[in-house]
Amino acid sequence: MQVGYLSEAFVSFQGEGLHVGRRQLFLRFCGCPLRCLYCDTPASLVRTEGFVAHGLPNGTYTNPMSLDDISVVVSMLIEQHGPVEGTSLTGGEPLAQADFIAQLLEAGGLPRPVILETAGMMPKALEKVVEAVDVVSMDLKLPSNTGETAFWDLHREFLAASRGKVYVKVLVDASSSRNDLIGAADLVRDVAPETPVFIQPITAESSTILVGEGDLSNVYKIFRNRVEDVRVVPQTHKMLGVA
Ligand code: SF4
Repeated sequence: MQVGYLSEAFVSFQGEGLHVGRRQLFLRFCGCPLRCLYCDTPASLVRTEGFVAHGLPNGTYTNPMSLDDISVVVSMLIEQHGPVEGTSLTGGEPLAQADFIAQLLEAGGLPRPVILETAGMMPKALEKVVEAVDVVSMDLKLPSNTGETAFWDLHREFLAASRGKVYVKVLVDASSSRNDLIGAADLVRDVAPETPVFIQPITAESSTILVGEGDLSNVYKIFRNRVEDVRVVPQTHKMLGVA
C-alpha cells in the first residue's frame, strides 16, 4: 500500500482555468522537480514532515498519510466546509506521487469531477492516473519565464496522452518570449487543436498582474491565430483573497 505526502488540504474556490469559481476540495501534494521563477507555492516544493488541513480544529497531520488517513481528512473538510463541486489534486507536482494518487482514486470517495493540476511534463506518470481523473489541467511551461529548460517534447507527449479531458494553461508575464509563445501555440495546434487554452497572466500576491494589456493582446493573437478556444483569465483566487 502506497503512502502520500501532502502540503495542505482545504476547501476553497477554484481560481484558475476551466472550472474557475467552483467550490472545490483541494489536496496539495508536496514535492516538485521544477523551480519556476514565478512559483507561488514554495512550501510545496519539497516533502515536509507534516501538513495542515485548513479550517479543521487540530488540523495538523504528520506525513506520510495512508489512504484511510486522507479519507478521514476529506470527510471532515467536506462536512465542515462543503458542499463542494469537485476535487483538485494540485501541488507541487502531484504526478511525482502518481502511484499513490492512482490508489487514492481507485479507493473512491473524492468529490467528482477530479481535476489533476500538473506541469504537464511527466507523461509516463500520467499513464497511471489518466483514466481515473476527469479533467487534466496542464501547464505549458515557457522557459523564458520559468527559468527552467524547455519541455516541448514531454509537453507534446503529455498533451497527446490527455487529449479529450485536458485544458492548457500558459502562464505569461513581461519576460515571456515571442518564440516561446509561438512554440507553445504551434504545439497545441499540431497535437490537439480543440484544446481550450487559458492564457493566465501571472498575478502577484498583491493582485497586481505582471503583464501589460498590449502584451496580453499580442499573446492572445499568437494563440488565436492557431487554435480556436482561447481565453485570458487571471489568478482570481488572489483577487478574492482566498487560498
Ligand atoms: S511546477 Fe508548479 S509547483 Fe513546481 S515549481 Fe513550477 S509553479 Fe511551482
